[in-house]
Amino acid sequence: MPELTINGIKIDYIESVRSDIRNTYLRFDETKLLVVSRKRIRDPQGLILKHRNWVLKHYAHERSKIRFFSENRILWQGVEYKVERQLYMGRPSVSVDSENSTMVIKAPDAKSANVALERYLKRETLKYATAEASIRAGMIGEQIKSVRVRKTKRWGACNSRRMLSFNSFLCMLPQNISEYVITHEIAHLKELNHSKKFWKIVGRFHPDYKELRAQLHRYDSTQRPVVAQAPNGQLDLEFI
Ligand SMILES: [Zn+2]
Repeated sequence: MPELTINGIKIDYIESVRSDIRNTYLRFDETKLLVVSRKRIRDPQGLILKHRNWVLKHYAHERSKIRFFSENRILWQGVEYKVERQLYMGRPSVSVDSENSTMVIKAPDAKSANVALERYLKRETLKYATAEASIRAGMIGEQIKSVRVRKTKRWGACNSRRMLSFNSFLCMLPQNISEYVITHEIAHLKELNHSKKFWKIVGRFHPDYKELRAQLHRYDSTQRPVVAQAPNGQLDLEFI
């Protein structure tokens, strides 16, 4: 991968040529910088240097992000858990052993272990978010229509039809932060904007919402767990 050093910081970059775009742009994929253009550009390094302030700022942000998955560790309700993979020829399953801070994934192969994990996160988030959202909605005299869980970049959404949706990683956040996300969407049942009135409702539940919001932005909602087969035949989780 080509690299370039700016103010003593080494930045890896990848050039990506895409015929479906019009303008050249820079963006980060985790800590890798992508130079995306319609045609191959002559001087990608010159372009990066021209935008050095933007690049350094976003690189620092990417570096400070908290990732949910790393090697055989996973964040569960904000706490680091060990992931234990077990080869199992039956129906894949995921279970959480809070006493030993371990998550056990049983599956016949890597692919189904990954599917089982994603499904588990979705199911747990749905259970948790539905219960919390109903309670909080009741507390402000509102009702919710439905709760959905999706794998998106956003942590939560609420539309004018009173339908809520949440990111399937919600259950992996520390509880005070996931509660803030739920309160935020519930407050939109009353105010479909981010007005003073809106923040007042949020502040009733979380006086420290500014701090919680800042913490939330450090968590990487886009990372995907990928399970690969290790050469020794054991299941291995590889996260990208
Ligand atoms: Zn909002």
